[in-house]
Amino acid sequence: MRIDAHVHVVGTGTGDTGCWYRPRGLTRLGAPWLVRSIGLTTRDLTGPEFDRVYVEQLLAYVRNSSIQRVLLLAHELPHREDGTPLPDRASFYVPNDYVLRLAQRHREFLPAVSIHPARRDAHDELEKCLAGGAAALKCLPNVQGIDWNDRRHTRFLERMAEAGLPLLAHTGSERTMPVMEARLADPRVLTRPLEIGVTCIAAHCGTGTMFVDPDYLDAFASMVERFPRLFGDNSALAALNFRLRPSALRRLTSGLLAERILHGSDLPVPVSGFLAWLSGLLPWHEHKAAASLENPLERDAHLKRALGFSPSTFTRASNVLRVSGPPPPAA
Ligand SMILES: [Zn+2]
Repeated sequence: MRIDAHVHVVGTGTGDTGCWYRPRGLTRLGAPWLVRSIGLTTRDLTGPEFDRVYVEQLLAYVRNSSIQRVLLLAHELPHREDGTPLPDRASFYVPNDYVLRLAQRHREFLPAVSIHPARRDAHDELEKCLAGGAAALKCLPNVQGIDWNDRRHTRFLERMAEAGLPLLAHTGSERTMPVMEARLADPRVLTRPLEIGVTCIAAHCGTGTMFVDPDYLDAFASMVERFPRLFGDNSALAALNFRLRPSALRRLTSGLLAERILHGSDLPVPVSGFLAWLSGLLPWHEHKAAASLENPLERDAHLKRALGFSPSTFTRASNVLRVSGPPPPAA
């Protein structure tokens, strides 16, 4: 089963989805690009049907691609260490109930819930999500303020390990959302979860935006040697974000690291091979071939293959995620 293990669902709350979207400051400039990359317009974004058309568009892309299922990510609020939610520091919110419901309705979707472990109701929410079929737990430690090495989260992590729920954590710099604690971009934030026995996926493998941010690929690589249940994803590496250094691509597509990579697009982050071509990582004809693909899921998959990611990166997630039920019938 071929899975895209990193796809965002965004909503403005139309149709009582419980989502909201409030881009602020610089992130507001990105909004038109994000909606355009999923085939919608800024008029859709402010329209009365946005949440429904977003999901329908996404479903159509999955059904017309070589990908069979996508991991759909809920998005938690940042919280203080004492569990106080900080909605004013967030630019969007996607409730767990929404992704669980979408996955129940459409077999193309696997639900990744998002729970800040300091929440007062964190344990109850985790149990509810496990019962609802959660396939992973997604978080952005640096954006949401989660230090997984904090001993107070031990019981939460033990329950995740026991239930076989993997932790998908953003690692490396973040430039599209306000950051709470920059030091939590380091993949070593996953040390304690791994020691407790939680399978972890370091999104972006700790890569930073080139030139300006620290890069944690070395830290990720040495953790991969130490922990057999640590994986990374190649999400947002075929984008316009300068994450992909040529040396990084060589490392991620060969040796031990290559055996731990999961395919992920990071939709609706715009997918393009332009920078990869500019850095000499992609021949011109592959850039052109990808650019002619209208379906962003397929364009991303095409680019990842052309960049040297193996077929197993597309299927590996079925042994990593908490997957239930058969894949959807072939289109
Ligand atoms: Zn993402």
